[in-house]
Amino acid sequence: MSEQKNNWGTSTLALRSGHRRTAEREHGEPIFTTSSFVFESAAHAAECFANETGEVNIYSRFTNPTVACFEERLAALEGAERGVATSSGMAAILAVCMAFLNQGDEVVCSRSVFGSTVGLFNRYMTRFGITTHFVELQDLAAWEAACNDKTRLFFVETPSNPLCELADLPALAELAHSKGLKLVVDNCFCTPALQKPLELGADVVVHSATKYLDGQGRAIGGAVVGREKDMAEVFGVVRTAGPCMSPFNAWVFLKGLETLKLRMDAHSANALQLATWLQKQPGVAAVHYAGLPDHPQHELAKKQMRAFGGVLSFEVAGGRDAAWAVIDSTSMLSITGNLGDAKTTITHPATTTHARLTPEARAAAGITDGLVRIAVGLEDIVDIQADLSKLRLL
Ligand SMILES: *Cc1c(COP(=O)(O)O)cnc(C)c1O
Repeated sequence: MSEQKNNWGTSTLALRSGHRRTAEREHGEPIFTTSSFVFESAAHAAECFANETGEVNIYSRFTNPTVACFEERLAALEGAERGVATSSGMAAILAVCMAFLNQGDEVVCSRSVFGSTVGLFNRYMTRFGITTHFVELQDLAAWEAACNDKTRLFFVETPSNPLCELADLPALAELAHSKGLKLVVDNCFCTPALQKPLELGADVVVHSATKYLDGQGRAIGGAVVGREKDMAEVFGVVRTAGPCMSPFNAWVFLKGLETLKLRMDAHSANALQLATWLQKQPGVAAVHYAGLPDHPQHELAKKQMRAFGGVLSFEVAGGRDAAWAVIDSTSMLSITGNLGDAKTTITHPATTTHARLTPEARAAAGITDGLVRIAVGLEDIVDIQADLSKLRLL
């Protein structure tokens, strides 16, 4: 059994925490591909079934040792008391909604969140009598004005996708707590290697493990971490409703976590270099990246993030045609909506990830037709720049 030290650093926790070595004395974390677990006797079975906290293994929809190892490791990295793994990032957000909201409750949510998150609140939670108000993520007065006595939680993503705007997490947490609400943060873009929302005052953190936690584009998964009391509610939802993580995927994410800090530092270093280079290209009208000293929230970014992550966006003069021309001129970068991969991806948000918004909503969100998003990967920076060299000809 590995013993977890409270003072371990991020890399050590990512490599060593959560693994309870079995009697086989294995070095790496085993994959428990079993749907259920056996009992020593009828009385033992009855005793285990009476336990609803997830401390004993009964059935892999409830708990599984490989999944538990991932949950414990991610919770340790985020500085949380407990984690609950889910089948996807969206399942994590759904589980949070089901755990903390009742019919008639209201949510205040940043306008700049993942598209499916908007869809979940607007198309599905509404059917259960839950209303969501979308506000500008930087505008604290708007968050406050959207609250009433039915509001139960704030939901935010920072930095935002694709414009890299930041929410001031300590300020938002203070506002939430002054009104008795929970602050839920989607920490997908930063991961705990770069930003620890719970230390900044958040109550609950959600993740799409599909992105940087895996980091290599291999599997779909998610997680919720936070206080034991809150996670008991989330665990109850996942155990009962069933959006659980598969043990194989949990093992993939454990392998991903082992290199999380190294990767996030390398993504951040490449992204900063690319952002700086892009600013010097003649066809580029603006670059959005919180690591740039002239980003309007650079000081806040330095306060709440250890580095600035791998996602940036830039605007080319000439609108959609010019943006598409840049994308089509690349030969190495992957044209895909995904992000958080070791391979660099390039996207035109206005016609893909944000195409479902009305033109007015897109304009309000700052998603222009000339905007291109890059999730900077781990290739050599000179090769990424070379693949974008047609920018010079714009
Ligand atoms: C991808 C993503 C999600 C959803 O995660 P899935 O694993 O695809 O369900 C949620 N939030 C953010 C910020 C994401 O990028």
